[in-house]
Amino acid sequence: MTSTATATALVKTTFLELEITGRCQLACTHCYAQSGPTGDHGTMTADDWLSVIDQAADLGVTEVQFIGGEPTLHPDFTKLLDHAIDRGLRVQVFSNLIHVREEVWDRLRCPAVSLATSYYSDCADEHGRVTRRPASHTRTRNNIARAVTLGIPIKVGVIDVLDGQRVEEARRELEALGVQRIHIDRQRGVGRAATTAAPTVTELCGRCGIGRAAIGPDGQVWPCVLSRFLPAAGNVLTTPLRNILEGPRLAALVEQIPKRPGATACKPNSDGSDCSPAETTACNPAY
Ligand code: SF4
Repeated sequence: MTSTATATALVKTTFLELEITGRCQLACTHCYAQSGPTGDHGTMTADDWLSVIDQAADLGVTEVQFIGGEPTLHPDFTKLLDHAIDRGLRVQVFSNLIHVREEVWDRLRCPAVSLATSYYSDCADEHGRVTRRPASHTRTRNNIARAVTLGIPIKVGVIDVLDGQRVEEARRELEALGVQRIHIDRQRGVGRAATTAAPTVTELCGRCGIGRAAIGPDGQVWPCVLSRFLPAAGNVLTTPLRNILEGPRLAALVEQIPKRPGATACKPNSDGSDCSPAETTACNPAY
């Protein structure tokens, strides 16, 4: 390992993506996690996730993001969300906004909580071609509008997936709805959007692992959810989170990801960086 790798990985982790499920109502053509209705919640139990949240808070993590799949489909989602709030963490919920239960809306109103989603077009048919569910446009659009009406901070990533996609029209529609944080990005060749058998690190934004990390449904830890094609830096089911975040394997992974000039730690709620799925495109659900 080089000294550069060590220095990079030692950037304190303050943001964790918690990918709590692989299940989703949608099956988007570019999904980084290849999620869908038959996806499962992995091997992490609710108690395992509660322990991760506790460890994260004790380590100085300031924000977690619940992502998937569709995180609200996890049977213990509200329990996990409540625990993160109770531990003093800021929480971002990355949802497709297909169906939001009232108990979830109640929690989204908490000042510590923000919302993120993905959107593809002002045209319902075109949006549905990406999500593979024709009715998804109306549902997501209506829930974006509801979030704005309720004053819930919401960030929307418009991901350019199709040739000739009405991306700018989608942006203008979102602006008309009152959304203030809109980011447009291209899809990344990861997961269902992969164009080669083995994705490469050039698909990543370059900030992966710098102040952030991701934990998957089976406990694997990666620099970010998009870098899941790399070997895991460790597994929280067998290793304390601190040892993984401060260990040599994560440092080595971060080192092999090309950096953009001036790449610094992600600030999910304070800048418009494209370091997460919604904004980088592979999910279409983070940041
Ligand atoms: S991109 Fe997001 S909304 Fe689409 S299938 Fe994947 S997890 Fe679900």
